Amino acid sequence: MHILDFTPEEIAAALKNEEKAKKSLDDKLARVAEQMSKLAKKQAELKKEVAASEWRLNHLDVSQALHVLIPEELWSLRAALAKKRIEARETDSKRESASLHAEAAQMEKELLAKCPHPLVVNAAGYQATNHNDDDDRSEPGERFCAVCNHHEVEYARWSGQEAGFKKLVEAENRVWAREHREAIEDLRKTFLKIDDYRELLNHFTPQRALELLESLRKTPTK
Ligand SMILES: [Zn+2]
Repeated sequence: MHILDFTPEEIAAALKNEEKAKKSLDDKLARVAEQMSKLAKKQAELKKEVAASEWRLNHLDVSQALHVLIPEELWSLRAALAKKRIEARETDSKRESASLHAEAAQMEKELLAKCPHPLVVNAAGYQATNHNDDDDRSEPGERFCAVCNHHEVEYARWSGQEAGFKKLVEAENRVWAREHREAIEDLRKTFLKIDDYRELLNHFTPQRALELLESLRKTPTK
């Protein structure tokens, strides 16, 4: 069959049909585009919700890790010590202040004796690569326990031996936060509140805290 076999009427009818078909396809395309735009918006909303949920999950995990890492007894001892220090600072009586400070000092000792140092803040040391004695800016590393404030300076780092710490070494159930040496000074002076711990864990070692939780979940409790 050849195009010339169609009558002009037939061709006009075919054209009309084809135009109708195209119009219908255009409408469908427009509807699909509209749906896609709605879905994209929905996708963006869901992504936001997922991110918020992940944040909450991480935050809860970190809080849980803190409670697993830091025994209840230590939490209450710290809370009592913090309260005692405030009382000692705020009293007008010199005699009362002295006795409150003495009580606080006793509590500090108790805390130090009981603390397994579960959250250690570490500031790496620095070894000068330049062996010019005039330009020796080497500094040993420093660590402190954010629960009891026990503080250690790295020993023997610069005498050719392995560097080391006495108590604050790598250990099971110990979480590390990395900090700069200057920040360590400030942090040691501050008696950290629970929210500050969260900050530390969130910012420095969330992965480690999560790994730790994971291993704790796998270990049956005795
Ligand atoms: Zn400690």
